[in-house]
Amino acid sequence: MPELPEVEVVRRGLETILKDQPILEKVELMRKDLREPIPAKKISTLVGQPLTSIERRAKYLLLWTPKGAMLSHLGMTGTWRVAVPGDERLHDHIYLHFSENLRLAYRDPRRFGCFDFVQDPLKHPKLADLGPEPLEAEFNGPLLWEKLRGKDVALKVALMDQKVVVGVGNIYASEALFAAGIKPTLPARKLSLERASLLVGEIKKILSQSIKAGGSSISDFAQASGESGYFQTSFRVYGRDKECVTCGQQVKSQVLGGRNTFWCSRCQK
Ligand SMILES: [Zn+2]
Repeated sequence: MPELPEVEVVRRGLETILKDQPILEKVELMRKDLREPIPAKKISTLVGQPLTSIERRAKYLLLWTPKGAMLSHLGMTGTWRVAVPGDERLHDHIYLHFSENLRLAYRDPRRFGCFDFVQDPLKHPKLADLGPEPLEAEFNGPLLWEKLRGKDVALKVALMDQKVVVGVGNIYASEALFAAGIKPTLPARKLSLERASLLVGEIKKILSQSIKAGGSSISDFAQASGESGYFQTSFRVYGRDKECVTCGQQVKSQVLGGRNTFWCSRCQK
């Protein structure tokens, strides 16, 4: 599944391709739905408008025009690519035709993605309740600490709650907790302000590194596989069923909130 860094790399790719603000000339839907019905009528109101910016919110992409935006979520296997004439592929579900003969194709074999219309992000059901963006300055130690107050769940489970912070997936949560030396099973409400600040720093660092790795390893954004979703191929603690890279003690693994969690009981307190 594409994770936040991969979606951010896709956003940057689209931004480059659409930098001249082409006019949306036609929306061609090859089917009426992905995971949910596509609001074809609402989306068609954007035809004739220029694409003015590409935003990302959590793992959603927003393709903005002055009249509203198209909202895209890649689900498990979604990809966007520039499709020149003749480049039609199985599982292409959406073609966006722009001026200058530019055509974007959305391909999604498993169809867990979404394609929707947005007028006001603050009122859209998929966007309204999302927590802060991890890479924005507003996400800092005091804010995380505040959000965790009164939460009895394990810290790692809380980090993956989209109302606490968006886009910190299972592997990134494990890796950030390891880097910060904090055990994932700690009750969220017991995290001190000082350690919350430390953890926020590690989350930002890991996500930024991953975006950088994705940006440098993928020359054509459309090649983003949509399969692993993680640019970093080596993790310091996640998936290690052997000794800790820091202290040599056996790494523990445990299912927490339904997800595999790896940690070192000597290095993480
Ligand atoms: Zn260790």
